[in-house]
Amino acid sequence: MENTIIDIKNLSKSFGSHEVLKDINFSVKKGEVVTVIGSSGSGKSTLLRCLNLLETPDGGEVNYDGKNILTHMENVNDYRTKLGMVFQQFNLFNNCNVLDNCILGQMKVLKRSKDEAKKIAEEYLQVVGMSQYINARPAQLSGGQKQRVAIARALSMKPEALLFDEPTSALDPEMVGDVLQVMKKLAKDGSTMIIVTHEMEFAREVSDRIVLMDKGIIVEDGTPDEVFNHPKHERTKAFLKRAL
Ligand code: ADP
Ligand code: MG
Repeated sequence: MENTIIDIKNLSKSFGSHEVLKDINFSVKKGEVVTVIGSSGSGKSTLLRCLNLLETPDGGEVNYDGKNILTHMENVNDYRTKLGMVFQQFNLFNNCNVLDNCILGQMKVLKRSKDEAKKIAEEYLQVVGMSQYINARPAQLSGGQKQRVAIARALSMKPEALLFDEPTSALDPEMVGDVLQVMKKLAKDGSTMIIVTHEMEFAREVSDRIVLMDKGIIVEDGTPDEVFNHPKHERTKAFLKRAL
């Protein structure tokens, strides 16, 4: 498919005898915003983790730019730099200030000079509205501020796609809006994004496609209008009834 950047075919993953992903087929085009929804335990995080090889799939293909990365493992670190990941729990380096959080990966992994890394970090801290906190430690920040730093850190690596795993689930309600606002801006600016979230209004507004997972399979994959207003499957209707 033209412009397809990620193309997953027949992906499977088990933990012991528990089949967590079953024959997943899923693709993302350049510039597309795809939101993954579904009940807790349905396999959403495992799907993201298989995508950036934090987990090794048992079977199937993970094609990136037309190449199956599972059979081209020689450059795993190179591959991982193409995908920026934002986690529910931020995963900031708590003993480093905001700026260092955003430059260490650039210097270590991408071998950028400190000056260059700093310039790039400052640019993205500006994008997320955290410029004035450059010397703060994570412990001095609210959850929403930490998550915006985590987003700036991911952006500073200039990834080709961004993966978000429930980025607002650990936040106090009054912080959620700021983080969603930043993500909306990124979506509008053409970033390729895969977002796991329970924020249904946000999903409806920003997504090109919504994917609903249930017990390790994709039960629905369509536009927000198709999935929210004209769901094809009973399981989707049941989920939406609970979630909306
Ligand atoms: P979701 O993100 O949709 O809540 P997950 O992908 O985290 O779902 O988990 C799907 C299922 O896989 C759950 O039943 C979970 O307990 C199980 N699981 C996830 N990671 C592991 C692991 N490392 N070892 C064993 N079971 C796991
Ligand atoms: Mg999860």
